Amino acid sequence: MANAEPLDAVVIGAGFAGLYMVYRLREDGFSVHGFERGDGVGGTWYWNRYPGARCDSEIMYYSFSFLSELEQEWPLTERYPGQPDILRYLEEVASRLDLRKDFTFGAEVTAAEYDEAAHLWTVRTAQGHVATARYVVTAVGCLSAANFPEFPGAERFQGLSLHTGNWPREPVDFTGKRVAVIGTGASGIQAIPVIAEQAAHLTVFQRTAQFTIPAENGPLDQDFVALWKQNYPEWRRRARHSLAGFPYTASVTYALEVSAAERRAAFEAAWGAGGFTFLSGTFRDLVMTEEANATAADFVRSKIDEIVRDPAVADMLKPRGFPIGTKRLPLDTNYYETFNRPNVSLVDLKQTPVTGLTATGITTSAGHHEVDVIVYATGFDALTGPLEGLGIRGRDGQTLKDVWAEGPRTYLGVAVPGFPNLFTITGPGSPSVLSNMPVSIEQHVEWIGDCLSWLRAEGAEVIEATEQATTAWTAHVQDVASHTLHPKAATWYMGANIPGKPRVFLPYIGGVGPYRDHCAKVAANGYEGFTTTGDQEGDDGARPGDHRAA
Ligand SMILES: Cc1cc2nc3c(=O)[nH]c(=O)nc-3n(C[C@H](O)[C@H](O)[C@H](O)COP(=O)(O)OP(=O)(O)OC[C@H]3O[C@@H](n4cnc5c(N)ncnc54)[C@H](O)[C@@H]3O)c2cc1C
Repeated sequence: MANAEPLDAVVIGAGFAGLYMVYRLREDGFSVHGFERGDGVGGTWYWNRYPGARCDSEIMYYSFSFLSELEQEWPLTERYPGQPDILRYLEEVASRLDLRKDFTFGAEVTAAEYDEAAHLWTVRTAQGHVATARYVVTAVGCLSAANFPEFPGAERFQGLSLHTGNWPREPVDFTGKRVAVIGTGASGIQAIPVIAEQAAHLTVFQRTAQFTIPAENGPLDQDFVALWKQNYPEWRRRARHSLAGFPYTASVTYALEVSAAERRAAFEAAWGAGGFTFLSGTFRDLVMTEEANATAADFVRSKIDEIVRDPAVADMLKPRGFPIGTKRLPLDTNYYETFNRPNVSLVDLKQTPVTGLTATGITTSAGHHEVDVIVYATGFDALTGPLEGLGIRGRDGQTLKDVWAEGPRTYLGVAVPGFPNLFTITGPGSPSVLSNMPVSIEQHVEWIGDCLSWLRAEGAEVIEATEQATTAWTAHVQDVASHTLHPKAATWYMGANIPGKPRVFLPYIGGVGPYRDHCAKVAANGYEGFTTTGDQEGDDGARPGDHRAA
């Protein structure tokens, strides 16, 4: 497409965020068009089709809250929805809301440049589309830029190479194959047990042993579902005002306040129940103090000893050197059990690093592993990667990549000074990946939608975060994180999985509910911390500081 008249907004991405943003702006009477790199809707659930791909948020609240009819009609059959179920859900949303007509698919945005005189963005795709718009809203997700480690000789490998985050549409048949999985983060931990059931042999290449908690997935009791559906508004309300977008109450007990036996009983119960409540539902301080954390970490290590029969393998699987919960806690189905299978072996890359790839496999410092397929479960350049990949240029041609060279600076995770009229849904500095994401996505979409309606009502054309508000917010994001154990761990939350990436805590850990309240206050105070400029005749450029500065 190439629009003759500038649009009100371009939205980039067609996952949960992009679908809702386009719908919301269209309903509010704005002209809006979306660009999506994939050939269809779904985002994460379009790309991550690897065996075992599944959501770790329970199905009852991993969905939109604004579609009350669909909410009642959508079948809730399994506790955690698998990738095909979520993709079907988002396809249904796109159909019901007739959203596909407002998107161009197979369109990868490679440039978005701001014209300061015209107050317009020009967005270009690799496929040759050009669109001009007053506003650009990025809905590119936090985990959509796949990370490939740089192994010497990677191009020499003659077998099949796959990344979990960019999986083929047709299922891959591993029958009779020798498979390597590199990486044991949340995706690897889901894929490994399923691939092991099919492959002739599976070799798992582990850089960092992980704490993982049983998901305890299974069919949902339909009486429970009926009751849940009756009370949907209340569950949604609780999720919005919770710490992490989950509708459950967090524990108020400190781990060291109770006896060792009581602690063990609490961990056993949570382990048996499955899910993230292992951390939030047992004790309130597990990710706050090292002493409390050690009790949970020791418990999981003891479970590994119970489950894994070979003591040497159990030892290799035991996470050490970082607090439990500081890496994204995976939920698993038979992960540790998989290492009891005769067709599965484990390579510890800390002991024997990869030295390179050959035509037929992977060489480590201890020898060569012949394989037919390499599955890279090596995660993502999280939060900043998808945004920096858009080729965004704001005032004076500055790029996001340049202004974020020392780490992302945002106001509320939704705006960046120097980039007027640009909004970043679940951007760095917002709760995003620390939350049940549909809750955070809806909050951002609604806040941005309200903001654009307000600008229209005010007759304002340009909105931009102030330096002052951005500096204060960015410092606040780091300050809140510094009161937790997070900065002590080398994690993708800290940018540590990408060579050269600045080490700062990327999401906002102050809590979904408090963050929502803060954003609402900013809006109620006339978008405090932003400057706006009007669209008066002859206005020849934005004038930061006009009014409503922080
Ligand atoms: C394996 C996996 C498991 C997850 N499990 C959970 C979970 O249990 N609970 C939870 O809350 N969240 C989970 N998440 C996070 C998940 O990403 C969010 O829940 C949600 O799907 C994000 O939606 P989104 O629309 O913001 O982004 P995405 O779904 O990532 O969509 C972004 C879209 O933008 C497109 N895009 C990116 N760059 C460009 C470009 N340059 N041009 C055009 N299009 C572009 C992408 O193709 C993609 O389709 C998981 C993520 C992964 C990868």
